[in-house]
Amino acid sequence: MRMLDQILKHNSEFVEEKKYEAFTTSKYPNKKMVILSCMDTRLIELLPKALNIGNGDAKLVKNAGALVVHPFGSIMRSILVAVYQLQAQEVLVIGHHDCGMSGMKADVMIESMKERGINEEVLEMLNYSGVDVNGWLEGFSSVSESVSHSVEMIKKHPLLPNDVAVHGLVIDPATGKLDLVVNGYDQ
Ligand SMILES: [Zn+2]
Repeated sequence: MRMLDQILKHNSEFVEEKKYEAFTTSKYPNKKMVILSCMDTRLIELLPKALNIGNGDAKLVKNAGALVVHPFGSIMRSILVAVYQLQAQEVLVIGHHDCGMSGMKADVMIESMKERGINEEVLEMLNYSGVDVNGWLEGFSSVSESVSHSVEMIKKHPLLPNDVAVHGLVIDPATGKLDLVVNGYDQ
């Protein structure tokens, strides 16, 4: 059975057997926080458990590297929605050790794109029209620096209210241990 078929089969049983009842909650985070973290597979269950966050406790925003790349991109918009519409009062940016974005080289990914059939001309055309493809795909060298940078982007955002604390942390994807990078209460 292909993956989507497996999912749909499981899903009909899940709904039929009312397994959803264990997850009933509201859209407002009980712990009034929004977390920006990485899409890493090791963090799916480990991160909430390591922070004592259950279903309904927090808004969780994820991308590759827990990065705020653009001040008016979708990540920052999600954080503002969590703050203004969903009662989040604190923001936690949580990067992790051994992240796929750590040391990621744009030229390696661009090589893979070419191997998968993306034409050189497409890349040239993008660069020509002002899209910095290389800069956009480049990872970071230090996770704590990257977390600090994202915290700063959020904290200094012109649309974020002053009373929102923005913390920065790094989690160990094996043990769940957190290291504090920025204590938002000190800012
Ligand atoms: Zn990662």
